[in-house]
Amino acid sequence: MVEAGLGLYAIAIPAGLLVLLSVAEYLWPRSARVLGRIPRWRTHALFFLTNVTVGRVLALLVVVGSAAAWAHDHGFGLFNYVGWPWWLEAGLAFILLDFALWLQHVAMHRFGFLWVMHKVHHSDRDLDASTALRFHPLELLFSTLYKSASVVFLGVPVLAALAFELWLNCNALFNHSNVRLPRSVDRLLRIFLVSPDMHLVHHSTAVGEQQRNYGFALTWWDRLFATYDYESTMGRDGQTIGLAEIADERPAQFLWSMKQPLT
Ligand SMILES: [Zn+2]
Repeated sequence: MVEAGLGLYAIAIPAGLLVLLSVAEYLWPRSARVLGRIPRWRTHALFFLTNVTVGRVLALLVVVGSAAAWAHDHGFGLFNYVGWPWWLEAGLAFILLDFALWLQHVAMHRFGFLWVMHKVHHSDRDLDASTALRFHPLELLFSTLYKSASVVFLGVPVLAALAFELWLNCNALFNHSNVRLPRSVDRLLRIFLVSPDMHLVHHSTAVGEQQRNYGFALTWWDRLFATYDYESTMGRDGQTIGLAEIADERPAQFLWSMKQPLT
């Protein structure tokens, strides 16, 4: 209760002050405005929201680390039980966590209550590295809790859990990127890693193709469970991206995107 009360003050006092100062600036301006009030305020509000989200993500990263530390201290989870060499545990942790996330991604597409969060990511009508940042806060919250639970049950070493997090984020930026790699390099990469062209298929407007190439980092699970496609039936260069039912500029709007799970 005390924390909740403090949290409320921590938001209410600065917010109230912001309103008071804005009224004062309106009544007694010092300098004339060069830019319009509305676009600047909108931009600054988006900055604020983004920063809150980033703060949240950092807090959630700590959650994954704490889960790993808790599992270690309590001797909980597979790796804490078997006590194998650290390099073997770390290597297996990377592979098993990758599989756990592949399963989660399949679930995000199969279950309606998860799809409403994940479709915010898929509504982007272009793909570039910035699409890797386009996850609704609700999906981030869900996947962080899921990841933390996976870390606890596997008993992943703390350092390996944090390194996996970094590895995953780098892969997401890479495989969403809009880079044209030579086909030969792409094929070579795909032996192990999800390449940009491979992930492109997953962002097709064709629903059937959205249920292909679920992998985040390793390509093995899609091959093993027969959800792998080399490229879209539209071809790499002719493929349309996004959700077929949303063919306008709304996905570029921040607020519309945030509200999308409700629509
Ligand atoms: Zn997806």
